Amino acid sequence: MAQHCKQLIFLGDGMGDRPVDSLGGLTPLEYQRTPALDFLAAGGECGLMYPIRPGMPAGSDTAHMAILGYDPFKYYMGRGPFEAKGVGLDVQAGDLAFRCNFSTLTDGVISDRRAGRIKQGTDQLAQLLNEAFVEGLEGVKVIVKESVEHRAALVLRGEGLSAEIGDADPHEVGVPPLEVKPLPGAEEDPAAQRTARIVNEFVRRGHEVLAKAPVNAERAQQGLPVANVLLPRGVGTAPNLKPFSEEWGLNGALIVEVDLVRGLGMYLGMNLVNVPQATGGADTDELAIAEAVVSALESHDFVLCNIKAPDLAGHDYSPRAKCEAVAKVDRAVGYLLDHLDWKQHVMMLGADHCTPCALGDHSGDGVPVAFYGYGTRPDYVQTYGERPCATGSLGKIGRNDVMYLLGNLAGTIHKFGA
Ligand code: ZN
Ligand code: ZN
Repeated sequence: MAQHCKQLIFLGDGMGDRPVDSLGGLTPLEYQRTPALDFLAAGGECGLMYPIRPGMPAGSDTAHMAILGYDPFKYYMGRGPFEAKGVGLDVQAGDLAFRCNFSTLTDGVISDRRAGRIKQGTDQLAQLLNEAFVEGLEGVKVIVKESVEHRAALVLRGEGLSAEIGDADPHEVGVPPLEVKPLPGAEEDPAAQRTARIVNEFVRRGHEVLAKAPVNAERAQQGLPVANVLLPRGVGTAPNLKPFSEEWGLNGALIVEVDLVRGLGMYLGMNLVNVPQATGGADTDELAIAEAVVSALESHDFVLCNIKAPDLAGHDYSPRAKCEAVAKVDRAVGYLLDHLDWKQHVMMLGADHCTPCALGDHSGDGVPVAFYGYGTRPDYVQTYGERPCATGSLGKIGRNDVMYLLGNLAGTIHKFGA
């Protein structure tokens, strides 16, 4: 009796698509030979999923929130908090979190937004900033943490802050950093005014500190662009999300190649499994990822896995690369079919959103999904793809449905009523 089976969500990021002329009017999923995906669709129940709402393109962050059962319309307040969590900052509900770039300021204008894609020394630069702002600004705590290359995150913690402010990063070179201002409509809001003032002061004093940093003296000597200003953007208020284990009563792990989604997982207190061979690119090792999924399922009730390659191919407008990425997902799923006991496991195969090659970006099209394993009632769908799945027994499913459908099969959803 598999009363509480283990649950798996397996996603090809952005894997759904639209008909492509060069593939004979088929989508990459329909065109590419995918024996494992087809086996799963034929033996399971299929449908189309709209992670946000029909027709609304989803970001990877909001789509993953919805798939994990956290309504993005209720809880999504910008990517900053997940980004900051993802780089290892302690982010608490109510904090303001920003993404930042170390940039080069020359004679008052930005000459390089990425400071020559600085690779080393940003940890020392972040430390200098943390020391300089150890007293805080206007009673607000300031925490900086470096990420990869020129990237960093900033957290402001305190009372009376507002995320209704603009960016300091002008997103172009040859102009000065932007003076941060309250967003239209929030001009009179004292919290927005105060937060803008604090961020402007952070940028100004931060520049003074960074200009004197030994790391930058060395870079100047080597003729490299100096990282003498840190420019915040993309602010978000850290939402109050219940940990995954409390929300669903499941001990969950994530094996994902998207940093933002890793940040979301950390935010939800899920275990992040690191797979060194997972590159996040077209060369990722899908079998190493599949092995990691099987082993994570030994010690967890729930695993979500995401392979990034299909989304990259979509953004590159490349149907051929998308087909190859789909073949990778198929090989990974083939491994799972062989190595998991399907009387003890249920899975959903799908994508977080569509990234049609014709658009080079995410769309609001339905994503083909197939539920397979313990408890499923196979429908008449025989192959996995956008059009076959549209005829499946699940019909159209919406945001926040996935965890219920999966949990229902696994026997972990409580009865509503007597
Ligand atoms: Zn995505
Ligand atoms: Zn994308």
